[in-house]
This record gives sequence, C-alpha cells and structure tokens, in this order.
Amino acid sequence: NLDDIFGTVDRLLQGSTTMQQNTSRFEQSLNAANDEIRRLRSELESLRQDAMNDELTGVFNRKAFDIELAQFLNHGDHGPSIHLAMLDIDHFKQFNDRFGHMVGDRVLGLVGKQLNAAARVGVSVYRYGGEEFALVFCGGSFEQAVQFAENLRTTIGNLVLRDTRSGERLSGITVSIGIAARHRGETAEQLLGRADTALYRAKESGRNRVCSAS
Ligand code: GH3
Ligand code: MG
Ligand code: MG
Repeated sequence: NLDDIFGTVDRLLQGSTTMQQNTSRFEQSLNAANDEIRRLRSELESLRQDAMNDELTGVFNRKAFDIELAQFLNHGDHGPSIHLAMLDIDHFKQFNDRFGHMVGDRVLGLVGKQLNAAARVGVSVYRYGGEEFALVFCGGSFEQAVQFAENLRTTIGNLVLRDTRSGERLSGITVSIGIAARHRGETAEQLLGRADTALYRAKESGRNRVCSAS
C-alpha cells in the first residue's frame, strides 16, 4: 500500500540524513586529527633542529657532529672524499680575561656567523666545544678544503671587533686550524686524532695558521 511505501521512504530518508550527519562529523574530526598531526610533525622537526643546533653560535652542535661525521664515514671507501678541519680561537682565555666573558660570548657568536656564512653544499660547520669548531668537507679535493680553511682564517683575522656600548675597538682574534684528509678505512676517532695533531702543530708553530695532517 502507498502509505506503507511513503512511510518506508521517509524512514530511509531520515536514516540517510543521520548517516550524512555522522559522515560529516567523522570528516570534521578526521580533518582536525590531520591538522594536529601536521602541527606535531612541524613541532617535532623544529625540536629536532634545536637539538642539533648550538644556541650561542648558531652552527650545528657536537651531537650533530658525532652523528653526521659517522654518517659521512659510513659511505666507506667508495663514498665521496671526506676532509676534517678543527678550528680553535687563539688565546681566547686572554681575550675573555681582558674584555669579559659576555664580550667573549658575543665574539663566539660572531665567529659562528662567519662560519655559517661560509658554509655551503659539501661543507658543514659544528661547534665542537668551547671555542673550538669543526668543519666537515664532503666531496672536493684536499687542496680546496685547505684553501677554504685559509680563507676562513684570513676573514676571521680581519674582523674588526667593537664594543657595541662604548664603541671601543677591541683587539682582533685569530684562529688556528688543523686539517686532515680521511685515509682509507679510517674511523672518525682516527681522523679526528690526526686533525687534532695538526691543530696542535698550528698552535705550537705560532698560531694564526692552517696546518695539514700527514
Ligand atoms: P690557545 O691559543 O692555546 O687555544 O689558547 P686559549 O686561551 O684559546 O685556550 P684555552 O684552552 O687555554 O682556553 C680556552 C678559553 O676559551 C677558556 C674559556 O674561558 C674560553 N671559552 C670556552 N668556551 C667559552 C664560551 O662559551 N664563552 C666564552 N666567553 N668563553 C669560552
Ligand atoms: Mg683556543
Ligand atoms: Mg680550545
């Protein structure tokens, strides 16, 4: 009978409206969940970057250095050439004693800025600790890496430092650099040891210079 049919159609329509409402609520909560996932992802990425960055100097930190150097070396002897430079500010203790730790901090920040400005594809910069930085060169020749280190040394040595409050001109800073080309099969520790020895030689032979490891 016709009434029964209309009744059934009514119920079906109501049912489908309820279903549509449910579906749209479901879609809304799905969208909200997706937004939340996107937000958490970007938060996680920025936390990950914070965890790898050195706050004072703006370059990558020691943790990033350990992880990334290991990754670079993981490519093994068939991967791109790897060179490591260790850079240390000369007589920085004297500088701090003379101008104060806070001025010293600002100079470290400035050095970090110079290093970051020089960094490019294939050259990563890290604060190894204190007033010591590490540069990892991935690809390219040893001569290019040495030239890069020489340019950095000159640029930093030519910086004119001024106390922003008093305008007083501060004594300049210089850096010593030890640089080593990764030998076949060499571990991160061995490579670091040789770059360190070269840095030690740079210090011993008068500072403000680049020494290459044998
Ligand atoms: P060298 O030429 O042999 O490297 O002499 P140096 O005085 O630079 O070396 P030393 O290892 O004797 O002293 C390092 C100094 O670096 C001492 C410390 O106060 C300073 N330094 C290390 N980290 C920081 C920092 O985060 N901020 C400031 N302001 N100074 C720092
Ligand atoms: Mg030093
Ligand atoms: Mg040092």
